[in-house]
Amino acid sequence: MTASNKKRIGVLTSGGDAPGMNAAIRAVVRAGIYYGYDVFGIENGYSGLLAGDISPMTLRSVSEIINRGGTILKTSRSPEFNTPEGVNRGAEMARLFKLDGLVVIGGDGSFRGARDLAKKGIPVSCIPGTIDNDISCTDYTIGYDTALNTVKDAIDRIKDTAYSHERCSIIEVMGRGAGYIALNCAIAGGAEACVLPEKPLDIDEDVIKPIIDGRNRGKDHFIIVAAEGVGKTDEIAAEIKAKVGITPTVSILGYIQRGGSPTVRDRVTGSLMGVKAVELLHSGNINQVVASHSGQIIGLPIDEALAMTKTISEYEILASTILSL
Ligand code: ADP
Repeated sequence: MTASNKKRIGVLTSGGDAPGMNAAIRAVVRAGIYYGYDVFGIENGYSGLLAGDISPMTLRSVSEIINRGGTILKTSRSPEFNTPEGVNRGAEMARLFKLDGLVVIGGDGSFRGARDLAKKGIPVSCIPGTIDNDISCTDYTIGYDTALNTVKDAIDRIKDTAYSHERCSIIEVMGRGAGYIALNCAIAGGAEACVLPEKPLDIDEDVIKPIIDGRNRGKDHFIIVAAEGVGKTDEIAAEIKAKVGITPTVSILGYIQRGGSPTVRDRVTGSLMGVKAVELLHSGNINQVVASHSGQIIGLPIDEALAMTKTISEYEILASTILSL
């Protein structure tokens, strides 16, 4: 540790990684230094906080990372931290390293951990980072746009081969319990049907009928986007085979959706949210979540943020149905 008298900020990434987290780390380091702090990187999320994997970051230690996916600080899920003793030890480590504030980049599980640290007197500032866009307090989460573009590219490629045969392709996409990736990629990829966790599934009505109606209107290839959160991809494939007479190909996109160089939107949003997270701490607006609301980057008290709910747009669901005709 340095002998500096400056105030100190720590930064960690936690939960699932997302493209754009590096932009946020870079922004926290540079904004922290700009506002007069020493900034410390904590490796492996809350596990690294407990283990004291905490080291100084400099303007140059975040050079050449804005274009990289993943997180240079690495991330983890820490069952050890997720206990009252773990939170106590995390707060002790933060005090031992004399951290005056901690920036947590992750999903709402990570924010709950941050709230627990806040209750132990550690000032925190949270940044929403997940490809799933499933954090209620914000319109947008870092990584979502990159994942959408990755899925869009995959659908385009699968479509090329589906187009060459009479073929049905089911593409299973990520999103945990939310259908944001599925719905938006169904619209962007021109899918015939989209299966979302937010909508009770009737396979005959939602999948078989659009395929048969589409065939009667002259379509000869069909793209079905299924959110992983529904958990019915195999059943949908079996029903299509039995009722339409086409054996669908099933592509489970999996972890390719998490990686890749972040898009402009994720770089810019990650950067602006990183600056905002530091400014909130610096101005004494502690224990807040940075959120995007109607194009504005704002701070919301963490308890309020965690209590919020958001639902997928019924209008966009209707639009995707209209567009699939
Ligand atoms: P995400 O942040 O992407 O939602 P997780 O839900 O896996 O990911 O949370 C990441 C980590 O945050 C967990 O491994 C745990 O250490 C911590 N965490 C999650 N929920 C809580 C909680 N209720 N209290 C304290 N820590 C939590």
